Amino acid sequence: STTVEELAEAKKSVLDFNQRLENKVQERTQELKSATLKAEASAQAKSEFLATMSHELRTPMNGIQGMLYLLKGTSIDNKQQQYVDIASQSATDLLSLINNILDLAKSDANKLELNIEEFDLNKLLEDVISLLSASIKNEALTLQLNNSSIDSGIVSGDPAKLKQVLLNLIGNAIKFSQQGQITVTAKLDKFHNDSEYRLTVSIKDSGCGISQKVLPKLFERFVQADSSSTRQHDGSGLGLAISKQLCELMQGNITVDSILGEGSCFTFVITLL
Ligand code: ADP
Repeated sequence: STTVEELAEAKKSVLDFNQRLENKVQERTQELKSATLKAEASAQAKSEFLATMSHELRTPMNGIQGMLYLLKGTSIDNKQQQYVDIASQSATDLLSLINNILDLAKSDANKLELNIEEFDLNKLLEDVISLLSASIKNEALTLQLNNSSIDSGIVSGDPAKLKQVLLNLIGNAIKFSQQGQITVTAKLDKFHNDSEYRLTVSIKDSGCGISQKVLPKLFERFVQADSSSTRQHDGSGLGLAISKQLCELMQGNITVDSILGEGSCFTFVITLL
């Protein structure tokens, strides 16, 4: 028969076991915590390194672009003009890639900030459109801006970030369209109260379109709809990822509708003051 002593002994060993288990759990939790902290610090260091590097890369790139611009104005023959044009386009592409990497790195390091200032929205839209219109080499493709509903476009926001989103999205529409019209429609609505505006911009093209299979992950980093080695366009697959982050930073979002072979329509919304 079980004596009182035996019962007490059994109870004690159960308690001991529980205590040891609890100690083990605590030890493991501590180890996990410090591993997580280490991983976070290393990710942060990587992002900071990238952000600094991208910044350092931009300075010489601006020098290259400036010198090519000056070279273009000198008396060189047609062939040489062509070479300068190609070098200049490559420099612009590289700079835009560097800007995207810089912003992604900053965003990972939680250092992506808005620089709010007053600007003329209509002028910004018109400048972007004329800059990109000049870059269209294909005569079967036209670019049109529809901003007639915005009377006074004097607003406050981050014009550089808005410009970056527009350059990415309209740049893609040009890159992925063989012919037809790209229409950029912008409208500005009062939002919540009198001091906030909601800017909605849609970029509609009649280009190659995107398959339904790819659409859900299109805004993830390094995703390209056509990843075949025979793809016609180069690119990094970062433009849409950073555009999404920038729109979210500006208290908005970005969506896409597309039919393969018919065209795409990207729409983004941001908040302005
Ligand atoms: P990149 O253009 O550098 O490859 P993005 O992130 O800007 O990177 O775009 C990702 C992919 O989405 C592109 O590679 C392309 O397959 C697809 N895409 C983006 N915009 C369009 C568009 N307007 N029409 C068709 N496909 C597009």
